[in-house]
Amino acid sequence: MRRIDLRTANVARSNTVRDINRQIVLNFVREKGPISRAEIARETKLQRSTVSLIVSELQKTGLIKEVYGESSGGRPPALLTLRTARPVAIGVDLGTIKTSVATCDLTGRMIEKEEFWTDPDAEKTTALIIASVKRLVKKDGQAIERIGISLPALVDAKKGRVLYNPHFKWRSPKIIEQVAAGTGIPVTADNDANAAALAELWFGRPEVRAARDFILVFIENGIGTGIVFDGQIYRGKGGVAGEFGHMRIGNDAPVLCATGSDECWEAFASERAALGRYEKLTGTQDYPNRINFLQLVELAMTGEKAALAALKETAHYIGIGMGNLIQGLSPDVIVVGGTITRAWDLISADIQAAAEGVLCQGIPATHIIPSSLGPEPALMGAFSLVLAEMFAPVTL
Ligand SMILES: [Zn+2]
Repeated sequence: MRRIDLRTANVARSNTVRDINRQIVLNFVREKGPISRAEIARETKLQRSTVSLIVSELQKTGLIKEVYGESSGGRPPALLTLRTARPVAIGVDLGTIKTSVATCDLTGRMIEKEEFWTDPDAEKTTALIIASVKRLVKKDGQAIERIGISLPALVDAKKGRVLYNPHFKWRSPKIIEQVAAGTGIPVTADNDANAAALAELWFGRPEVRAARDFILVFIENGIGTGIVFDGQIYRGKGGVAGEFGHMRIGNDAPVLCATGSDECWEAFASERAALGRYEKLTGTQDYPNRINFLQLVELAMTGEKAALAALKETAHYIGIGMGNLIQGLSPDVIVVGGTITRAWDLISADIQAAAEGVLCQGIPATHIIPSSLGPEPALMGAFSLVLAEMFAPVTL
């Protein structure tokens, strides 16, 4: 879903000009609000009367509201902002361990969340999602327009089909169809890294939103990459582009990737890889001594030697993979999402150095930065699947 370009949007002319103008006004309020009708008309070069008409429509549907600005004597000017704190979308982050189902408002701010363990049986997880959506809708969800689902799977987003989830070996699970039928709300789904990249495009830091070409590397149990070219998700044939998690990095990785190889980037550089290294260093392979990745990160941050060594070696391999991406695609920036970003100060130099070590002479280094989307980029991604559709132009 392409972000609207405010500088060129006013040249849009077609049969859907009314819808496009509506999206232009909505986007101006989103990006520049609080803003007056007169300012919108001046900047978009739309007629004052057209702007007023669209604004009253958007107020009626509850997407924007009036607030009053500072008065310099006389009546304060009426300014427009997005209407916040009312749930308009549901996001589902169907992870390899946990699933989160949450509502958010028009600005992508989370309002309410439920969590449960993801069941390895697709039908059971789908039933839990439906029950959770129903509870959230019943509470305060009358204005919910759509459900966005992000999951670590091959997804043909255009056709609305989940193709394969390697973590649970789900082949063509009917999650999209069943959640839509079970809740009566339309569903959009995408691969978690693509969804997180979309969230960066819409809600990330200005440096990322301004970049035309960037790659989001989502690190958790696996590694996913969302590629943005020219402000749009690059999908490739069949919608499955971005599976760099399974590019070959070497052999004899500390763990196997989701498809059973010890040669993939994911096997060298995922959360599981870091845990594998830690367990080897400390001999804590067995329950109850095993720790989870968040605990590993926290131990490393307190300076615990084995945890720090495991994390830094993993960072080195994260960097090597990224160097390969930079070598081939030369993006403006690479954004890293996932729990590992909590330890960014400990690992960023290792990542950047390893990436630059891969590059041939003459290839400029790319800035590698952590995501600003908070601890759950895939959930923000699920929200964005809905919000991008609400804000994006109809056709451009
Ligand atoms: Zn693999």
